Amino acid sequence: MSDIKEKDNLPDWSAYRGVLVFVEQRAGTAKSVSWQLLGEGRKLADKLEAPLLAVAVGHGVGHLAQEAIYRGADVAYLCDDPVLKDYRTRPYSRVMLQLIEDAKPEIVLFGATATGRDLAGAIATHLPTGLTADTTALDVEPHPSRLLLASRPAFSEKMMATILCKQYRPQMATARAGVFEALPRDASRQGEIVRIDCPLREEDVATQVLDFLEESGHVNLEEAEIIVAGGRGLGGPEAFALLKALADALGGVVGASRAAVDAGWIGHEHQVGQTGQTVRPKLYFAIGISGAVQHTVGMANAETIVAINKDESAPIFQLAHYGIVGDLFKIVPAITEEIRARRGLAAERSFEAKASESA
Ligand SMILES: Cc1cc2nc3c(=O)[nH]c(=O)nc-3n(C[C@H](O)[C@H](O)[C@H](O)COP(=O)(O)OP(=O)(O)OC[C@H]3O[C@@H](n4cnc5c(N)ncnc54)[C@H](O)[C@@H]3O)c2cc1C
Repeated sequence: MSDIKEKDNLPDWSAYRGVLVFVEQRAGTAKSVSWQLLGEGRKLADKLEAPLLAVAVGHGVGHLAQEAIYRGADVAYLCDDPVLKDYRTRPYSRVMLQLIEDAKPEIVLFGATATGRDLAGAIATHLPTGLTADTTALDVEPHPSRLLLASRPAFSEKMMATILCKQYRPQMATARAGVFEALPRDASRQGEIVRIDCPLREEDVATQVLDFLEESGHVNLEEAEIIVAGGRGLGGPEAFALLKALADALGGVVGASRAAVDAGWIGHEHQVGQTGQTVRPKLYFAIGISGAVQHTVGMANAETIVAINKDESAPIFQLAHYGIVGDLFKIVPAITEEIRARRGLAAERSFEAKASESA
C-alpha cells in the first residue's frame, strides 16, 4: 500500500482535513454505532494528525453534540431545527452537503443503518465522490496519500476487498454496527461545539413524516446488551422457546446462527454473523452453535461469551469465556430456573427491605 502516492500521482487535496462522523439519532437518542464510529474515527484522525469532527442533526439534540465531545470528537457541529425533527433525506442531505462544503473533511463516516445508507447514498450522488458501503474494517495511509482504506466482504462474502477513493474528496463510507469499539465516555473531555444553520424551511421539503409504526416482533440485536443465540443443535423451531425463556429471564433478546435461519426455524433478523448482524453485547450465549468463522466474526467482540455444546471439541469453546459441555435441553432450562429463582429472591429481599424501612 505504501507505493500508492508514487504510482497514482494524486490530486492536491490539502484543503480537506479531518474525519467527520454523522451522529445518528432517533427522538434524541443516539444509535450506538455513532459512538463506535467516533472510537474508530479517533484512531484514524490521530494517524492522520487531523481533527475528529462530529455532526448532530435533529431537533432538541444539543446534548448529542456535547456527548460526541465526551466520546472523542474535537469539534461537534450541531444543526438543531424543527424541520430536522425526524429523518428525511432532503433536509438532512442538504445540511450535510453544506457542512462538507464549508468544513471540508477528508473522510466522512456513517453507520450502515437504514438512515445512514440512505443519507450517505444521497450525499454521494450530489458530490463528485464515491461511497464504500457496509465496511467492517477501516484504516488510513498516512501522509502524503491520506487515503482511507475501507474494507468489506465481497464476492458473496468469500473474500475481503479494500476500496480506495483516490481521485475525489471527501472519502465516504458506511460502517456496520458492532464492529468498532466506542471510547469510554469521558465527561472531562473538552471540545468545541459549532452551531450551523438549517438551509431549508418546512415549505421547501416535499415529504412529511406522519407516524412511526413499530414492527411487531422486531429484534434489536445491534443495541442488545444480552443475546441468547441458538443454532442447528436446537434441532427445530420449538427449542427457540427455551432460548426465549432464558432471554426473558435475563432481559435479553434471541439471536441465531445461519443454519437455524436457513432451516426456517427463526427469522433472518435474528441472524448473527458475516451475512447477518455484527453484535457487541455484554453477554452472548452460543447454544448449539459450533463456532464456524462466519458466525464468530459477528459475535467475537462480545464482552463475555458463554457456550453450551455437547461436543467438547466444538470450535466455539476456543472463543468462549465460559463453556458448558452437555445437552442444551437439560442445561438451558436449569439456568433459566436458577436465574428466575435468584431474581425472585432479589425482588423479595428488596420488598422486605422497603417494608422494614417504612416500619
Ligand atoms: C458465505 C457464507 C456466509 C455465512 N454467513 C453466516 C452467518 O452470517 N452466520 C452464521 O451463523 N453462519 C454463516 N454461515 C454458515 C457457517 O459457515 C456455518 O455453517 C453455520 O454457522 C453453522 O451453524 P451452527 O453452528 O448452528 O450449526 P452446526 O455447525 O451444525 O453446529 C451445531 C452444533 O450444535 C451442537 N449440538 C447438537 N445437539 C446439541 C445438544 N442437544 N446440546 C448441545 N449442543 C448440541 C453440535 O455439537 C454442533 O457443534 C455462512 C457461510 C457462508 C459460506
